[in-house]
Amino acid sequence: MNPLRTLPKIDKCLAHPLFQDANATWVMKIAREKIETLRQALLCKELEYVDEEALMLEIKKAYDALFTPSLKPLINATGVILHTNMGRSLISKTLLERASTVICNYSNLEYNLEEGCRGERYEHVSHHLKALLGVEDVLVVNNNASAVFLILNTFAKAKEVIVSRGELVEIGGSFRIPEVMKQSGATLVEVGATNKTKKSDYENAISENTVMLMKVHQSNFSIEGFSEALCYEEIKRLATQHSLLDYYDLGSGYLPKLPYNLGNREHSLHEILTCNPSLISFSGDKLFGSVQAGIIAGRADLIAQLKKNQLLRMLRVDKITLSLLEESIKAYLKEEWEEIPTLWLLFRSIEELTQRALHVKEVIGEPYCELVKSETYMGGGTLPNRKFPTIALHVKGKATLLERKFRENFVIGRIEEDKFLLDFRTILPHNEATLISIIQRIIGY
Ligand SMILES: *Cc1c(COP(=O)(O)O)cnc(C)c1O
Repeated sequence: MNPLRTLPKIDKCLAHPLFQDANATWVMKIAREKIETLRQALLCKELEYVDEEALMLEIKKAYDALFTPSLKPLINATGVILHTNMGRSLISKTLLERASTVICNYSNLEYNLEEGCRGERYEHVSHHLKALLGVEDVLVVNNNASAVFLILNTFAKAKEVIVSRGELVEIGGSFRIPEVMKQSGATLVEVGATNKTKKSDYENAISENTVMLMKVHQSNFSIEGFSEALCYEEIKRLATQHSLLDYYDLGSGYLPKLPYNLGNREHSLHEILTCNPSLISFSGDKLFGSVQAGIIAGRADLIAQLKKNQLLRMLRVDKITLSLLEESIKAYLKEEWEEIPTLWLLFRSIEELTQRALHVKEVIGEPYCELVKSETYMGGGTLPNRKFPTIALHVKGKATLLERKFRENFVIGRIEEDKFLLDFRTILPHNEATLISIIQRIIGY
């Protein structure tokens, strides 16, 4: 028999029970490609005949791969609340539902309902955000990196900005203050030494080209021991004395008093705002606990200038961001902490985590696991060197093997002293049942 006759027709593929509910266009496209490859293989005698069932399964596999989402939900059992690789802040389902009324309908995003004419996209969050922060005006851009860029480009292009050497940070590998400054057109004037910057260092560096004194939060590292830096209040005072702008890139701004003593390095937004800064900026999705956004707050005249920069058009936020951010801000105003998952997770007490971990331990059974007290970090380039108490379930067995097996089941844990741990600081209560069945499967119930 002619081997080419063993090639099935496309129609036959489409009619196969495997593709009963599949999209015919894509089944055909994939089938055509596979059949063509097989035809070539038959013609040059690399293949003797076609195994039809194997072919169908191969088409099915390619079809499924096409529709398997690349972004997958994970159970974060690392204990790191703001995990940069796992999406930073979570959005609560309630807030998502509230925001969906705007996202899934036409809205007045840029429409002035009173006048019946074009309106301003940035007006929407500004009302609530100004109330929350108690500032003159605000502006929201794509992320905090763009906020830094926009501010420097608007006020410091072809001018000098003074920054302490100890604050020339790199965040997540792709954001380096000196590089961002160069790109924005501003000239960086570094002052002080890595560990020490004094008031006189700033004073000596001020020239007629200086426009701004900038403070950058060290975010993901800290300089301990023999070190000195100016607090924001002093920088602000110095800037005012010399008629310069002051700007604080806060990285991760947070609002409520946190349940842990953070020492005198980490100030809340309210504390910083009491110095009346010209401008500050922070991320929407770090400790603030909302969507990815860059929030700029400060003097109304400066915000107005930022709005005139053409760059803003490139950094502008979508209605999805604005409506989610607005819902987060309203949750803040109403003190609905459970709707700000980042804070909610941070605020869980050790007793509560222990109870939940104990429940899982009892279901799994004594010989397979035990509870351990441990410590974790905030993550997301925030609160470096600050450990938080936590409770973890130690799943007994070879740690590296368990780490891989859990990862294959979309559970990311951590290894500590050769123990594989599932940290309850970041395990969401609604994921607990799933987690239990995954543990049972892996330890071979
Ligand atoms: C995180 C961070 C940024 C970047 O913020 P994104 O919202 O990630 O763009 C900038 N500056 C500092 C100090 C930061 O900590």
